[in-house]
Amino acid sequence: MTLHDSYDPDNIFAKMLRGEVPCVKVMEDDVALAFMDIFPQAEGHTLVVPKDVEARNLLEMPDDKLGPYMQRVQAVTRAVEKALKPDGIVVTQFNGAPAGQTVYHLHFHIIPRREGESLRRHADGGPADTDSLKGIADRIAAFL
Ligand code: AMP
Repeated sequence: MTLHDSYDPDNIFAKMLRGEVPCVKVMEDDVALAFMDIFPQAEGHTLVVPKDVEARNLLEMPDDKLGPYMQRVQAVTRAVEKALKPDGIVVTQFNGAPAGQTVYHLHFHIIPRREGESLRRHADGGPADTDSLKGIADRIAAFL
């Protein structure tokens, strides 16, 4: 996969947006869907994906949709802070496989960080327990 390639409408996030694949939802409106990362790098690791775009990465995001989408990223980040009270929060995004991207529909990662706690590996390890992810998602959603 290079930085620019055709958008695959059957990528897993596109399937989630169409309701064909389940996710542990945090919020959804007409602009974005936020859900828990199934391989969390830290407790509360949340992903925010834009709706109604075929953007594989940030470079391909239409200008007019970027602002509203980033407002959702910020709103979810604020909710993560209020709900989980971390010491810091990583908000990040990868463009292309060499940069670490594994799913080719634009998304931002929101990863709470705690003093002295190391980050788990990216998109790796066993999937988190769905019930515990639901509990965290509910706590974050309470601030949205
Ligand atoms: P990236 O590597 O930046 O493209 O990020 C993709 C993210 O999606 C990784 O952090 C994965 O853990 C996460 N992921 C992959 N499949 C799922 C899934 N079914 N539900 C939730 N998160 C997923």
